Amino acid sequence: MSQTISREIHPWEQPFWKPVPGKEGVLFYLVAIHALAIVGLILFPLPGLPVFGMALLFTALGGLGTTVCYHRMLAHRTLKLNHFTEHLLIFWAMFNGSGAPTSWVAYHRLHHSHADTVADISSPQQGGFWWAHLRWLYQSAPADPAKWCRELNHGAYKVWMYAQVPLILLSLFCGLALGWQGFFWLGAIRLVYSLHMQCFVNSLTHLGHSDQGDFSRNVWWLGPLQLTAWGENWHKNHHSNPGSARLGLRWWQTDVGWYFIYALEAVGLATHVKRPTPRLHSPLDSSRKGEQKCTDPSP
Ligand SMILES: [Zn+2]
Ligand SMILES: [Zn+2]
Repeated sequence: MSQTISREIHPWEQPFWKPVPGKEGVLFYLVAIHALAIVGLILFPLPGLPVFGMALLFTALGGLGTTVCYHRMLAHRTLKLNHFTEHLLIFWAMFNGSGAPTSWVAYHRLHHSHADTVADISSPQQGGFWWAHLRWLYQSAPADPAKWCRELNHGAYKVWMYAQVPLILLSLFCGLALGWQGFFWLGAIRLVYSLHMQCFVNSLTHLGHSDQGDFSRNVWWLGPLQLTAWGENWHKNHHSNPGSARLGLRWWQTDVGWYFIYALEAVGLATHVKRPTPRLHSPLDSSRKGEQKCTDPSP
């Protein structure tokens, strides 16, 4: 009599080229922007100053949208933003390829709740570097907004979900107004750059040691490359203190998102800003219990 031993097949055990049903479009998008970016870099390796400046500006606005609005405000509720500012930042985050706020927050809260365990959606400790960096985007089942961020699953946030495809098409093609050089640099090259700078937070900053319950680590050199998302590279700080709007905890840990929040607070556009407490400065102060707090959407 033969005995059948069955076990769950993890998504990272699938062939890397195989998207989960419903995410074929994500894989197509990723392949398309990389192919266009390579062609663009061959044809226009050195862009003109106006095109380069605009690409930088769009990248910077998108970076602020993701780190300040998506991550610190919507996912962790570490501040409140004026409504107009909030939705302006959502626009720039989506324009920069970060997807709709509801799905971003659902994935992110799932990640914190199960960081680096088998239930984590994007851990390099489970699926390897490329799983955490890109593959999970098209090979993992969507995180359920009804479970992870019910408060973002209706109203204006829902409208942003429907705007996702038109906005990314606009983002990809808007540079045509400045000719072919603008098309490649303002579109695919910018989107590929921004994509990888965000993906490094999932892959590279989770390749540390498990002395605090997860493998998060600070990666100093990633910060300058992230431009306005400089601050996200202090990822160990963040996993240790998910309730803090400030990610750079030492004076020398540059945190552009924090400076932006500080300025918004000064002019009354950000309120209820949660600062790290002195207790939270300790590098040894971390627990999985603390991380789970971020799944609570209440302020
Ligand atoms: Zn987070
Ligand atoms: Zn993380």
